[in-house]
Amino acid sequence: MTALDFREATLPFAPIADRIFVGGTWRQGTGPAFEVTDPSTGEVLQVVHQATTTDVDEAVRRGRAAAEDPAWRSLLPHQRAKFLHRIADAIEANTSRLALLQSYNTGKTVAETTALVGSAAGTFRYFAAVLETADEDLTTPRGNYLTMSVHEPIGVIGAIAPWNSPVASDAQKIAPALAAGNAVVLKPAEWTPLVSLELARILDETGLPAGLLSVLPGKGSVVGDAIVHHPGVGKVTFTGGTNTGRAIAHAAAEKLMPVSLELGGKSPTIVLDDADIDAAVNGVMYGIFSSTGQSCIAGSRLFVDRRIYEEFLAKLVAKTQRLRLGPSRDPDTQVGPMVHRKHRDSVAAYVDLAREEGGRVLCGGAIPDDERLRDGAYYLPTIIDGLPNTSRTCQEEIFGPVLVVLPFDGEADLVAQANDSVFGLASGIWTGDYRRAWKLARRLQAGTVWINTYKQFSISTPFGGVKESGLGVEKGRSGIAAYSRQKSIYWGLDEEPNPWAD
Ligand code: NAD
Repeated sequence: MTALDFREATLPFAPIADRIFVGGTWRQGTGPAFEVTDPSTGEVLQVVHQATTTDVDEAVRRGRAAAEDPAWRSLLPHQRAKFLHRIADAIEANTSRLALLQSYNTGKTVAETTALVGSAAGTFRYFAAVLETADEDLTTPRGNYLTMSVHEPIGVIGAIAPWNSPVASDAQKIAPALAAGNAVVLKPAEWTPLVSLELARILDETGLPAGLLSVLPGKGSVVGDAIVHHPGVGKVTFTGGTNTGRAIAHAAAEKLMPVSLELGGKSPTIVLDDADIDAAVNGVMYGIFSSTGQSCIAGSRLFVDRRIYEEFLAKLVAKTQRLRLGPSRDPDTQVGPMVHRKHRDSVAAYVDLAREEGGRVLCGGAIPDDERLRDGAYYLPTIIDGLPNTSRTCQEEIFGPVLVVLPFDGEADLVAQANDSVFGLASGIWTGDYRRAWKLARRLQAGTVWINTYKQFSISTPFGGVKESGLGVEKGRSGIAAYSRQKSIYWGLDEEPNPWAD
């Protein structure tokens, strides 16, 4: 560990005062006061009074009115796209503010949050371009009529987000939903409302019609639940844990409402015996330890060919022990704190479980004893082996800097173990042979496979999980269609009245 630098111990600007954004109006929430903290130091960043179910009702009513107003609803695609371009410009102009706010509130490094802000701006630009260039279909008729299929807005979209990447996950929901002509009621995670509120300020200042966006911080079981059950909400897009996603799917079934669910993972990363070892070591480390492992797509289950297992593990452990832990805004930091001490404690409990299950902790496995990190939510990057794939440590999502490593003997054994999981979000393959990579990629049950890279993202590439990792895909050209209803229109061409009635 290198010396830590607490150059900027406190946020260098004030976040939005204690306000929530309800249908175009800024006001104090009437729900309970919540202390939003900085996980690097444990300091309180802001007290936010949360929203209530009454706020949800008002946000949905105002959202509906705004979405139905011809001033928004009748805009042609290229006119609506202008709003998205304006938002992208405004996000870029506020890059350092958004990046610092997210870094202070989530514990992610400033380098990472700066990249996330860039990707949020890019998301608005991408969906502006898709919107302007999307065609409606003239379908092939099977009679004397003309048939078309058009896309129309759903109305009000409920967007429920987790705490790990607010700026990126908010943009991934708001941009396509607005592009499709909807209004959005967004509920950020309880621990991390500040970035979403800042985003609301930025969107508000671009002149987006009032009511099209509401940001309602609060408890999932209160505010989130009210959004999901509200009769005026026509679709919910949710990113978060599998159990919450399942509860939302049940509620959606009652309303017969479409949902998209981006859920958890326990993604396998695979190192074949012909891999470039140095590249694979770095890739595996980035895949699990960047964002302090708090990433849905973290490569948290590592499979290494038994023939190179010991050599690979020795290098991996040695390099992991050299990772620099520290506050999120220290430019030297590679691994920041976890989002909250409560979450850190749940990760620590998983490592205790791994020990009980008979796992060998090869490095980490503890809270750092560095006095300067005492008040933050830190945990040492941890590598565990010696457990079967059937153990809870190998099967459950830990969502922290904890990697579990298993050897494999041959491809059949590998595929059986890698696919033996309730999750199917992502996976990674490190190999020197593109034919082996292709065949393996096709056999893995995952929404995304990275080959000789990991955790890369492109807004133009669809993203979604299979099995208990999700339902539906986001991003890509069809991203806007996911926030639309399709309507078919038949134009009769008969010159004579229908003879059936004669
Ligand atoms: P979570 O499921 O606890 O919470 C997610 C959101 O849902 C929060 O805003 C929460 O307040 C809300 N919520 C909770 N209960 C609710 C309810 N009954 N009704 C409506 N809303 C409710 O998840 P988290 O701890 O915030 O985030 C971590 C999880 O998110 C991990 O499992 C991670 O894998 C997953 N995640 C998935 C993706 C993806 O794209 N697949 C991306 C990021 C995070």
